Amino acid sequence: MTAYLFENARIVDGTSPEAGEPASVLIEGNIIREVGPSVRSESAERIDLAGRTLMPGLIDAHVHVIAGMANLGQNAKLPDPVVTVRAFKIMGEMLMRGFTTVRDLGGATSGLAAAAAEAPWPTPRLNICGKALSQSGGHTDYRGPYDDTPAPKTGHTLGNLGRICDGVPEVRKAAREELKSGAHFIKVMANGGIASPTDPIHFLGFSREELMAAVEEAENAGTYVAAHLYTDKAIRRAIECGIHSLEHCNLIAPETAKLAVESGCIAVPTLVTYEKLSVEGPALGLPPASIAKVDSVRLAGMESLAIMREAGLSMAFGTDLLGEMHRHQSEEFVIRSRVLPTHEVIAAATFVAAKLLRMEGQIGCVAPGAFADLIVVDGDPLKDISLLTRQGAHLPMIMKDGVFIKRG
Ligand SMILES: [Zn+2]
Repeated sequence: MTAYLFENARIVDGTSPEAGEPASVLIEGNIIREVGPSVRSESAERIDLAGRTLMPGLIDAHVHVIAGMANLGQNAKLPDPVVTVRAFKIMGEMLMRGFTTVRDLGGATSGLAAAAAEAPWPTPRLNICGKALSQSGGHTDYRGPYDDTPAPKTGHTLGNLGRICDGVPEVRKAAREELKSGAHFIKVMANGGIASPTDPIHFLGFSREELMAAVEEAENAGTYVAAHLYTDKAIRRAIECGIHSLEHCNLIAPETAKLAVESGCIAVPTLVTYEKLSVEGPALGLPPASIAKVDSVRLAGMESLAIMREAGLSMAFGTDLLGEMHRHQSEEFVIRSRVLPTHEVIAAATFVAAKLLRMEGQIGCVAPGAFADLIVVDGDPLKDISLLTRQGAHLPMIMKDGVFIKRG
């Protein structure tokens, strides 16, 4: 079994505003075996990390790895092999930015995950919802106002983020089919969205009965529902229907944030995507109707961070980038640190995200028994969070599952 002993490792995992005292970390196979000041090993290869920081591999809790194009309607029409190749490139680049786990919020299938497991190219751990559920005219209905062709009932192509279902029986069936296909959780589009043509931001997606049906199906399978949400009204309704993972939340009000805390919810802001959509969206083929929607949520986004922190609502790290904009993934750290303490920003991509993925103790921590998903940072990201940006330039080592992906 391959073993490594990291020595003089100052650990930064988001639990404290200061880096830990120098410690040794023993890796055996794909598992972290021991962590402490006096860990020894006869056989392990010793790696000195003096002057560097050891972190758990990062977790992005809101991505779309199949979104090679920003125009999601066009992306849905691409042949599956093209989408697959682009998804591998997107996932590989995420890993090289230090993201050893990503949670996909619509599009990635268990088939793609199976291909990733066999592929000769390394990819992050993939946690998926399969196809997101949307009502007719909702956030994954790309048909437009004059297109009356029947809605595709299943996400018939890999490049499609979602599938259309209307009414409680169809929602239950769609949720059951996604769970049968290997979804780790269910995603519902419960509010209007930017990248779709006929649903203004204020639209509520699905009836309460449909949302509660999705929640019951997910809970029957031992899991939870994540919902796409912007407006305060939509967020409150989702919480009341039992939805656990609150995506985006740009327009959340303080009272609703408190209700979310009482209900044990976790929010997943995705601020970088609005900043980049407003600048790069037009050139990347995002339709004008979508561009016009961006500012309505972009400006409120920063305020939402302060509101959620004040309420004590846990926030996981998310980015939601599409197409060419994926390269900005790590800038979410910098954007959040304008409002939040740096260690809390890091926590969002470590133990908070691990809790959301129901993988506490397995990922997002440097602790005995966890997967050996680790990154080494040149310097201290608590003092300069931008060390996590620039496509991994300040990450001399990236390890996933005990294997070095990068070793500089
Ligand atoms: Zn999304």
